[in-house]
Amino acid sequence: MSRERLPTLILETLQQALSNPKNFTALHEPAFQGSEWEYIKECLDTGWVSSVGQYVDQFERNLAEYTGSPYAIAVMNGTAALHISLLLAGVQANDEVLIPSLTFVATANAVSYCGAIPHLIDVANQTMGVDPVKLDQYLQEIVYVKTDGYAYNRQTGRRISVVVPMHTFGHPVELDALVEVCERYRLVMVEDAAESLGSYYKGHHTGTYGKLAALSFNGNKIITTGGGGAVLTADEGIAKRVKHLTTTAKIPHRWAFHHDETAFNMRMPNLNAALGCAQLEQLPDFLIRKRKLAQRYKESLLQVDGVQWFEEQNHVSSNYWLNAIILDQSDERLRNQILDATNEAGIMTRPIWTPMHRLLMYQDCPRMDLSTTEELEMRVINIPSSVTLME
Ligand SMILES: *Cc1c(COP(=O)(O)O)cnc(C)c1O
Repeated sequence: MSRERLPTLILETLQQALSNPKNFTALHEPAFQGSEWEYIKECLDTGWVSSVGQYVDQFERNLAEYTGSPYAIAVMNGTAALHISLLLAGVQANDEVLIPSLTFVATANAVSYCGAIPHLIDVANQTMGVDPVKLDQYLQEIVYVKTDGYAYNRQTGRRISVVVPMHTFGHPVELDALVEVCERYRLVMVEDAAESLGSYYKGHHTGTYGKLAALSFNGNKIITTGGGGAVLTADEGIAKRVKHLTTTAKIPHRWAFHHDETAFNMRMPNLNAALGCAQLEQLPDFLIRKRKLAQRYKESLLQVDGVQWFEEQNHVSSNYWLNAIILDQSDERLRNQILDATNEAGIMTRPIWTPMHRLLMYQDCPRMDLSTTEELEMRVINIPSSVTLME
């Protein structure tokens, strides 16, 4: 086949795989097919729309139960969940925090909000998430552990306190190996599990390996609360601190307004939590549909010479939140043509994020060799992934 035919071939394959090609197929649209109207109507009828109400408590309980995390605290979005998680993991101003360069910008921004510096690390081809082997080799070179028990960067002299793996498109990173690296270098793990609700690593839900983890319920995520997020933790003391710090540090009292520290208003309103409760009830069904869609894509796209399918590893269960194809290295020059052809035909596709080290505000951050990140940047294309495609 002439490689110049590839964009057309991919377009035709996607058109065939999508059961009901409309004029426009979104990358990811929400599905409201459960009790959403009922629960939200109840909020409106009772007046409990804002920052307190039974749905916030219920959503937190249901999330904890679903993920197997002892505690879940709902907040206003995933970025806030990351921010508060980093603070409670002990990140201090002028620390360095290890994050993948291949991530959504919120991961890096949350580090900056703490006054800390993102230290950009590379990902593994198989997971598109942090590569523990490469990280271990790198830390061996640049880190020493001081008598205070913390790792320090030989080059900058700054403390390296936390690592934030991110489970790209719902595919879990190699967590066992990463936990070992954390122990070796005294790093605290905070998981950016914004994309991986419903994804498991060796039978345990993602977000239960880190000391804390952040979930997101933005409109494009596997379930949505409109905007929203949650912090997961197994530590009761930390869970209480998260709640306190995200609710203006108010001391509960019938009428007194007393606050005992400078804190945040990051609460999730009851209206959003009502939506979340209805959505979470449908998650098991969403996951089945996601896997069916992924399977259909896999079968179709594997017929196309030179297109790799981004598939889960053997020991994990991915939520297949966002499906992705990976072009051969020799075809990366065709990426933009493929994006043009599909988007022009009304099938929404997009490249992976611009890596953090190419963004103006993070281009001078410390970093390791990022060759896998740079390769993937040119080769990955996301394709439509809504559960509504599998009615
Ligand atoms: C969605 C997302 C977040 C958080 O996003 P919010 O829009 O603030 O809820 C953080 N990290 C990653 C990787 C994400 O995909």
